[in-house]
Amino acid sequence: MQLLRPESVEAAAAALGNGSVALAGGTDLVPMLRDRLVSAETLVELKEVVPRGVEGTRIGAGTTLAELEVDPEIPAALREACALAASPQLRSMGTIGGNLLQATRCWYWRLDFPCFLHGGSRCHAREGAHREHAIFGNERCASAHPSDPAAALLALGARVRTSRRELGLEELYRLPTEDDRNVTALEPGELILELDVPRPEASVYLKAMDRARWAFPLVGVAAARFADGVRLALAGVAPIPWRLDSETDLDRATPLPGTAYKVELARPLIRRALHSVT
Ligand SMILES: Cc1cc2nc3c(=O)[nH]c(=O)nc-3n(C[C@H](O)[C@H](O)[C@H](O)COP(=O)(O)OP(=O)(O)OC[C@H]3O[C@@H](n4cnc5c(N)ncnc54)[C@H](O)[C@@H]3O)c2cc1C
Ligand code: SF4
Repeated sequence: MQLLRPESVEAAAAALGNGSVALAGGTDLVPMLRDRLVSAETLVELKEVVPRGVEGTRIGAGTTLAELEVDPEIPAALREACALAASPQLRSMGTIGGNLLQATRCWYWRLDFPCFLHGGSRCHAREGAHREHAIFGNERCASAHPSDPAAALLALGARVRTSRRELGLEELYRLPTEDDRNVTALEPGELILELDVPRPEASVYLKAMDRARWAFPLVGVAAARFADGVRLALAGVAPIPWRLDSETDLDRATPLPGTAYKVELARPLIRRALHSVT
């Protein structure tokens, strides 16, 4: 395997595809290469080409979670979501761009079962062990999106600048379909360069997890108050970060037998989050 260190976004984008993959902090990618869930002849290092740091409302996709969690310019929901993610070591390596694109933690997928998301015809989790799985959007794939910062950014109404276009964070994600099993709308070779994060009047991120720290969200709730109202978004409840208009939207959840508890877990978290920002 070779490591490429391109000096421009154009060179990095041109080097991707045909057996090459983008490498940021490597905290998700390297274990997947080791487990042969991803195969690559070439790793294209993004360090020199993807912006890093915070400037006004703009966040470089190469900024680490550790940098974001201590930056007073960053809205509280995003700071708190970063601080509650993973471990200090992982946060000091893991970038916000890589975090948004991390793969599902569904064990069937990670153990390379030929499930729907891997291109097969069944969701093994729906029929098998699925305690950590989804309560929304789970008809074909019941995985639960693992990113805390993605839910915070969704509540904050963030926009994403890529090497090809600008799009809202909600447009970055899509539920997998029969024709396309991807959960993001990124095209091959398209890089996330920057996020634009509006400043709310108040925001918060609350997270329920199995351990007090260093665990993926069972349910994460982000709330952000703007002049025209409060935006809510959840982590750990659907194959992609999930927007809700209000707590009553939980009544439309489609939990599996083993995930029904997440509906009841989400209710008080949403109430607390709303109370905190209003
Ligand atoms: C034990 C463990 C616990 C964790 N717990 C949590 C948690 O509680 N909450 C949470 O939110 N996350 C958690 N994570 C995930 C962690 O935050 C991510 O692994 C990390 O943020 C990924 O960033 P990275 O820079 O290392 O990405 P990489 O591993 O380098 O890349 C991840 C993916 O994104 C692609 N990529 C990276 N950057 C770009 C870019 N700019 N443009 C296009 N493609 C790109 C790569 O090709 C790869 O497919 C955990 C991870 C581990 C291993
Ligand atoms: S939840 Fe998704 S990733 Fe997990 S087994 Fe089902 S289809 Fe595969």
